[in-house]
Amino acid sequence: MEKREQLYEGKAKQVFKTDDENLLIVSYKDDATAFNGMKKGTITGKGVINNQMSNLLMQYLEKKGIPTHFVEELNPRETLVRKVSIVPLEVIVRNISAGSFSKRYGIEEGIVFDAPTIEFSYKNDDLGDPLINAYHALALKLATAAEIEQIKQYAFMVNDSLKAFWASCGVTLVDFKLEFGRLTGGSIVLADEISPDTCRLWDSKTGEKLDKDRFRRDLGGVEDAYAEVMKRLTDKL
Ligand code: ADP
Ligand code: UDP
Repeated sequence: MEKREQLYEGKAKQVFKTDDENLLIVSYKDDATAFNGMKKGTITGKGVINNQMSNLLMQYLEKKGIPTHFVEELNPRETLVRKVSIVPLEVIVRNISAGSFSKRYGIEEGIVFDAPTIEFSYKNDDLGDPLINAYHALALKLATAAEIEQIKQYAFMVNDSLKAFWASCGVTLVDFKLEFGRLTGGSIVLADEISPDTCRLWDSKTGEKLDKDRFRRDLGGVEDAYAEVMKRLTDKL
């Protein structure tokens, strides 16, 4: 597979065309940002961990019946993926209160919900990814009603699978963000990444944060936390 021109450079990844119009190469960087790009830094080794972790988790989810963009890991930082038209929604599933949920509703972090929640943000950096509901997404023609239903179904399936998987690693899946896209034929697949950048992962015993909150909140030990969750995952998979 030949790498062609860069299509896009985002905050955490670069995306390249290939000689196959239906396939892209995603290259993971060590760059870290938070608060809509206001905070910037580097997490050494993050690109390799996020690439490999995302690929392992997507292959795991495929086996559970969730279609994904994953095709083949090309090298430690780069992966061949199916090209999709991204649905401009950040799909956030939560099992436990944290982050913007705690802030918005004025509750402490760590409250375990009776059932998982789902919410959408409109993926638009200029607007700061505002929270929107399904009616707004329809009004803005971001997705069809059938696509939103499919996305919700897949998102809860991902949660059930990953919650159980991470529990077996001694890690609590607090919340996470997913992105979905449309293949040429229109069917919806899971895209982007699943990593400590996009999930909150807490040590099940100690409650220690093993994710990007260590960077966001200047807690230190960021690289070690990423390496620790990766080790626990590879010990299981
Ligand atoms: P951001 O755009 O938020 O800075 P990244 O640095 O992670 O994020 O850039 C990766 C970009 O690639 C994102 O815009 C994401 O939506 C997009 N993307 C992820 N998977 C695919 C795919 N399979 N096909 C097309 N675009 C994708
Ligand atoms: N998240 C993400 N990208 C975003 C916003 C959120 O990956 O642009 C993830 C975040 O890592 C967490 C979950 O989505 O696992 C919920 O994040 P929250 O809404 O609490 O936002 P925060 O204020 O923490 O960014």
